[in-house]
Order: sequence, then structure tokens, then C-alpha cells
Amino acid sequence: MKKNGYTVLSVGDELTLGITTDTNSGYICRQLGEIGGTVKRILTVPDRTEDIVEALRLAARDSAFVVMSGGLGPTEDDRTRYALAEFRGQPLRENAALVAEIQKRFDAMNRPMSESNKIQALLPEQAQALPNSCGTAPGICLEHEGTRVFALPGVPREMKAMLEQSVLPALPRADNFLIMKQLHLVGVGESVIGEAIKPLMKQDANPTVGTTVKDSIITVRLVARGSDKDETQALCDAGEKEVRAALGENIFGQDDDTLPGVVVRLLAEKNATIALAESCTGGMIASLLVNIPGASNVLKNGIVSYANEAKTELLGVPAEVIEEHGAVSKEVAILMARNARERARADYSLAVTGIAGPGGGTKDKPVGTVWLAMATPFGVSYLRRNFLADRQGNRVLSANTGLTLLWRELAGLAPPPETQHER
Ligand code: ATP
Ligand code: MG
Repeated sequence: MKKNGYTVLSVGDELTLGITTDTNSGYICRQLGEIGGTVKRILTVPDRTEDIVEALRLAARDSAFVVMSGGLGPTEDDRTRYALAEFRGQPLRENAALVAEIQKRFDAMNRPMSESNKIQALLPEQAQALPNSCGTAPGICLEHEGTRVFALPGVPREMKAMLEQSVLPALPRADNFLIMKQLHLVGVGESVIGEAIKPLMKQDANPTVGTTVKDSIITVRLVARGSDKDETQALCDAGEKEVRAALGENIFGQDDDTLPGVVVRLLAEKNATIALAESCTGGMIASLLVNIPGASNVLKNGIVSYANEAKTELLGVPAEVIEEHGAVSKEVAILMARNARERARADYSLAVTGIAGPGGGTKDKPVGTVWLAMATPFGVSYLRRNFLADRQGNRVLSANTGLTLLWRELAGLAPPPETQHER
């Protein structure tokens, strides 16, 4: 069998114990993707020689390259060099040039080199050292039965420098282009999206199409591959067109776009301003908007009217209305929105009042009950949602639902399902 593609391997007890998140693998995969490489798998093993050897053997069955990180340090728990020697079937030898180089580094830092640092000069016979421009541990490169292994330090900064300086230049540039497009959707479930674009999601399709969801924002990712750049772009464009045809009404942006970013942009395009009246979101919508450069052109103010008295004092919601309908009610949300808009002399406003939990729920208004209202020059739109997340999740979902209500209005699209309207 002809070997091809990559296995990416991370080594470290802190990774398999779940103390440190393996960010090295993701970084390496992205870099390999950019040169057209295909990653077959990511493996993570603890600092144990046998486990590393086993991972290398598994990788060497089919991968042309292994890019690994971690376990190269001088301490007893750093096992990568021993594993490489065993995998290669060759003893470790002290490399005189490396000893001199490590010595030079310690001299430059004006620190004595300890005997254990010499361990970093041990290489399997016929392996090459990869220079380390930001640390002492050199990397190791060797070849065995048609698989080339690059072993890099675990420290992310050192790993990145060595990958860029010594590994990527040595790898084949596949005559293979990878073109990616991301479309971001909101206001529709992942399963609905999955149904709508099912025919596009076959596993060997080109482009491959996948979805990920975060805080009710769904991203459809198209990845086209090919040996001709224009053809690959055309494949990606054709896939995008199909996704847009099936789901266009719910797509708010692409690639680096964010929902608050799109909202700020649309407000700015209309020369319009907004005011916010937030209860359970506690200023989250304001914060999301302020994260966007240019928010100052569109955001008038954001009031966190958390207590009932604050809704009365800061927003003029009559105490009797709160008394009669409760703070989490359509009536209060509508008045919060109307008054916030009027008091700020803004074009739009968004109001949120809800029960984030974990306490405060009742039979009629369980935890996750949220009323949202948006006042515009043409009246007030409002809707109720019953979220099922925890406190933080309910707050984020509320904020995103408010922004969705606003985005659809600004984009001239139909309001979200179950939205009601009054003049
Ligand atoms: P080196 O060869 O540079 O000594 P090492 O594995 O021997 O690498 P460690 O002391 O184990 O060095 O790790 C150095 C630092 O790098 C630690 O903070 C560790 O958590 C971090 N690190 C190691 N591997 C990864 C990884 N895959 N993703 C993110 N961080 C990592
Ligand atoms: Mg380690």
C-alpha cells in the first residue's frame, strides 16, 4: 500500500489527564491544511515509551508523515527520543555538534549546563536534529519504512517556530488546493439544516459539507479540494450556491462575520441607532455590540434594569403593570422596549426580560422563559421563548435571539416564527 497523508501525534500526561487542552494538534492540522495536506488522524498518548511507540507504528501503517509534539525535554518523563529509537530500531547516540550547540545556548544565558541537558543531544542513529530557535530542545527528524517523522517540542511557541522554520519547508506542496467557505445561520435547528442539505453531506463529496453549532449559531462549512485552483474555487462556489438556495433565509453571514457584527453593520448602513433594555442578559447584548469596532456610531445606550424598581425608575414601566403581569411578561417587555427607544431617541430598541435560573421558575413561567421585544419606527415586535439551558446558556440564547430579531428586521426578512407585532 502506498503511504500518504499525515498522522498528527501529541505526547503528554497533562493532555491525557485532561489538565491541558491539546492546542498543538489543531494548530499543526491547520498549517498542514494550508499546504494541501490531508490529516488522517490525530492521536494523543501519555508520556510512556510503549504508548508512543505504538502510536508511531499505527501511524506508520499508512501515513507518509507523522508530525508529533511533546516529550522532548531533558527530564525523566520526556520519552519521545527513547520511543523514536525503539520505533526506528536504532540506539541513541550523543551528537557532539548538538552538545556544543546546547552548551553555546547556556553560555549565552550565562547559566551552567547540567548533565541532564546533554540528554537533548541524544539522537537515534541516522536521525537529524531540527534546530530550535526559541528553546534548548532540538527537534528530531527520521525516516522509517517510507514514513518520515518530525518530533517537535511541546511548548506551543517553540513548536510553532520549528514547524514553520524546519518542517513545513521540507514537506511536499500537494498540487492540491483546499478552499473553505463558512456560512453562519441562526434561528433554525441543526437537524432542520441537516435535512435541508442532506444530499450535500455525503462523506466523499467535493466539497465536503459539515455543520457545527455554538450558542444557537450554526455554521455550515464547505471544504473543496482539487488540483486546479479555479476548478476548486468553482466547486466550492457551486456547493455554496446550493446551501444558499436551501437555507438562504437563515444565513446572516460568512467566514469571519458574527451576528453582532452584522447587526452593527446593517444599523450603520441605515444610519440608524439602537438602545437596549436588558434584564436577564445583564448587559450581554450591549457587550456583544461594543465588541464590534464602529459600535459607537449606532449604540445609544444600554440599560441593565435588573430589579423591578429599576424597570420602573430607569425605564418608566409602571409598578402596577409589573405587579399585574409579572416582570417576565409580554407587557413588561413591550414597555421596556418602547420606553428605551423613546428615552434614548433611538431608531430601534431591544428589550429582554426572563428567568435565567437556576431558581425563580414557576409552573407557568419555568426557568428559561424569556420575553423579547424590539421597538422600531413601525411599532413593536415581541416573542416568547422557553430555553432549556443553564443560567449562562439561557442568557446567551436570549442575547442571540434578540440580535436575530433585530437582524431579520434590518435585513428586510420575515420575523422569527411566533413573533407578534403591534403598532
Ligand atoms: P519540550 O520538548 O519543549 O520540553 P515537553 O513535552 O518535554 O516539550 P513539557 O514540559 O511536557 O515539555 O510541556 C511544556 C509546556 O507545553 C507545558 O506547559 C505543556 O502543557 C505545554 N504543551 C505540551 N504539549 C502541548 C499540546 N499538545 N498542546 C498545548 N500545550 C502543550
Ligand atoms: Mg511533555
